Amino acid sequence: MMKNAFEAIAGRKTGQSGGGQNSGNCPLLLLCDHASNALPEGGLGLDPGLLATHIAYDIGAAAVTRALAAAYGAPAFLGVWSRLLIDLNRGADDPTLVMKLSDGSIIPGNRDADAAEVARRIAAWHAPYHAAIVAELDRMGPAAMVVSMHSFTPAWKGRPRPWDVGVLYDRDIRLSAPLMKRLAEAGFTVGDNEPYTGALEGDTLYRHGTLRGLPHVLIEMRQDLIDSDAAAQAFALRLKPILDAALSDVALRRS
Ligand SMILES: [Zn+2]
Repeated sequence: MMKNAFEAIAGRKTGQSGGGQNSGNCPLLLLCDHASNALPEGGLGLDPGLLATHIAYDIGAAAVTRALAAAYGAPAFLGVWSRLLIDLNRGADDPTLVMKLSDGSIIPGNRDADAAEVARRIAAWHAPYHAAIVAELDRMGPAAMVVSMHSFTPAWKGRPRPWDVGVLYDRDIRLSAPLMKRLAEAGFTVGDNEPYTGALEGDTLYRHGTLRGLPHVLIEMRQDLIDSDAAAQAFALRLKPILDAALSDVALRRS
């Protein structure tokens, strides 16, 4: 059977607001582009050992996303295929959409992927995911906020990364600024646009947050804090009141 292009979690319907209950009382959409390390048959010719690593997916991010979606009753979209097949967090014209090399490893099944193959993958997996997000945000209306969940490795090129959580943003800081403040107050070591910058034109939040004018943020979690189901659940429990307070900050300023 053909696996769906993405996983959709329906939001709980609460009165007229359509779910996503939080103290800011704004509809919340959760995204997890790099949720899965699954690959179609053949696995792009990749060493199975590599599939279990961060190059294939964002370890722990899916579990935290599901826990938050359940806690909020918020809708969520999660990728069901590895980022190595096609990276959902890139614009359709981005040259890194299908990576030929990732963290030093050659991806055999991508090495010879030509424009036709990339177009085929966009049509099969990338376009349906983003179309579903567009449809959901159309339904949620102008009060919606978008939170995208990712995770990062504790070290990079031998150097430990000091942050517990990274908050990534581009030009709209309505949600990222209060979230960074609230995370720091709660005792997290917070990366300000670290370990990556959120200013990537064409990425998921550029398309669904910046271009739509919706408050949005990308949350990067350090993988060792969320690498078991129990740890991810505990992390989501810790994160929820903080995110809640930040969403409320934004809602208050908008009203
Ligand atoms: Zn990611």
